[in-house]
Amino acid sequence: MSYVVGLTGGIGSGKTLVSDAFAKLGVNVIDADVIAREVVAPGSFGLQQIVDKFGVEILNKQGELNRALLRERVFQDPTLTTWLNAQLHPLIRNKMLAELAQSHSSYTILAVPLLFENQLDSMCNSTVVVDVDETTQLTRAMDRDGVDLNNIKRIMAQQMPRKQRCERADFVIDNNGTPDETVETVKKLHHFYINAVK
Ligand code: ADP
Repeated sequence: MSYVVGLTGGIGSGKTLVSDAFAKLGVNVIDADVIAREVVAPGSFGLQQIVDKFGVEILNKQGELNRALLRERVFQDPTLTTWLNAQLHPLIRNKMLAELAQSHSSYTILAVPLLFENQLDSMCNSTVVVDVDETTQLTRAMDRDGVDLNNIKRIMAQQMPRKQRCERADFVIDNNGTPDETVETVKKLHHFYINAVK
């Protein structure tokens, strides 16, 4: 297994911009959002668990998980969130470990929106937070997703406060500037990690 760098940041902070920049430098990126979808893909054990609990109504016409409906159901009942996390988190964690074991770039980026909240930093040798001020975060997230302020605020409420997140990280990438400036910061950090793992 290679050296693992956990990458996180609030919604709309620029995690995708940063992880794409690392990928362009030849670093393998493992994305928690992709894994979270794979563990509930059609035919998966995870999806079967959810159907057993919520009934087939939780599937769309194509037989895939209706994520919006699941989010609504879970939002209305916190005990369902606990149940869902207990089912899915071990599956996600195991898949991450399996992919990390297969990763052979000099170090690997593990991109996880809730890295600290879900204690996934325990899998990492080092951690990086992408940070922007809250007004910028809200504007960029709303522009990208075309959703309203309340939706973004609801997601932000599940995430650790900005200050705490930055304090927990080994490095903070300031993404208040232009994308090019952020990509330059990523290049510097890349050289740091290349030297660190030598
Ligand atoms: P995350 O993956 O953390 O939710 P993204 O990387 O998708 O965030 O960035 C959120 C939105 O903001 C995207 O539409 C992206 O193109 C835009 N964005 C990211 N960084 C910058 C930047 N430095 N300047 C302007 N727009 C940016």
